[in-house]
Amino acid sequence: MKKTIVLLPGDGIGPEVTRAAATVLRECATEFHHQFDFEEQPVGGAAIDVTATPLPNATLDACKRADAVFLGAVGGPKWDSLPVGKRPESGLLALRQAMGLYVNVRPVKVLEPLRGMSPLKPERLGDLDIEIVRELAGGIYFGERGNTTEGGKERAWDTESYSAQEVERIATFAYARSENRSRRLCSVDKANVLASSQLWRRTVTAMNAAYPSVKLEHMYVDNAAMQLTLKPSQFDVMLTSNMFGDILSDAAAALVGSIGLIPSASFGTGAPLFEPIHGSAPSLAGTDSANPIGSILSATMMLRDAFGLSLEADWIEQSVVRVLQAGHRTPDLAAPGSKAIGTNGFMEILHVEMQRTLEHAERYGWGV
Ligand code: NAD
Repeated sequence: MKKTIVLLPGDGIGPEVTRAAATVLRECATEFHHQFDFEEQPVGGAAIDVTATPLPNATLDACKRADAVFLGAVGGPKWDSLPVGKRPESGLLALRQAMGLYVNVRPVKVLEPLRGMSPLKPERLGDLDIEIVRELAGGIYFGERGNTTEGGKERAWDTESYSAQEVERIATFAYARSENRSRRLCSVDKANVLASSQLWRRTVTAMNAAYPSVKLEHMYVDNAAMQLTLKPSQFDVMLTSNMFGDILSDAAAALVGSIGLIPSASFGTGAPLFEPIHGSAPSLAGTDSANPIGSILSATMMLRDAFGLSLEADWIEQSVVRVLQAGHRTPDLAAPGSKAIGTNGFMEILHVEMQRTLEHAERYGWGV
């Protein structure tokens, strides 16, 4: 298979975790005889420093030509004093918009060797393995907003607005995702209060007829937040609006131990984009202590979901679990006082485990 992958390392730990993702993708190409052509482009603060804009045209053009895009992270104190529309983060929003990315998928799964890291008791955590399908291009983050002054006091507003068509396209993705998993879909809304949620619920319900094998459930967002904390394993695929998904997915990520573990994928009308959910963690940049797992698992989502290379993705994911099973931990995962390894050390051990996983698979088939 021949694919072009654009790498957008960005800022802070972005370049370090992007290097980790590119390393496993290169190793995958070598072992499985694929051709992945990489093209690196600046985005965020790194792009501002060179071109005075967080999303240069050349970067966007390269992304539009690519088969898939990988992004590290953007942002940092160096650019915090810039006006909102000129900051590194606005480059990411502009990129998502220009590439028509309207779906964001965040899988949150317990990695068995890290079960003890969850803030939840084991009986509450269960076999947590969920996917949050978040609408990414509409809702309150893109609705009308404004400021005014009334009687000398300020007022500001944002508008939550969804069309049936916007709900249909994200729900189509979520239903398809459910069909390929356990066929349970929980649609999250606030239909007891919001008109936009009532349209959301009506639309998702009407579509169920086209997906008769999927068991659809609706849940108010406040209850969903509580249930995620009480018994997260009751969920499989959760379908949410832009803002509800933003909040619930960060809460869900906290359940499995570290923000550094969680990958994400965004899909839309053009090339898909893959990125770990964490930010640029400026205090960790250059210290060789970033956890590369969220980034590596974003690369495996690229292999599986963009290129259909499930075996290759399984191979890398099994190897990551082997590294953890052997007791190796980056600082965010290490118990206080215990020895931790750096990003580079993790990658060296992962390379060895990837070779071992291949040898094991050749002898006994796949499985840890
Ligand atoms: P952050 O995710 O960068 O960091 C939150 C906490 O998690 C910090 O304690 C950090 O050290 C830790 N952390 C994050 N990633 C880690 C990893 N891979 N390994 C170990 N620990 C990790 O969020 P923040 O501190 O709120 O934001 C820092 C900068 O990142 C800001 O400029 C923000 O705007 C930006 N940001 C960018 C993105 C993105 O690029 N998609 C997302 C969120 C925040």
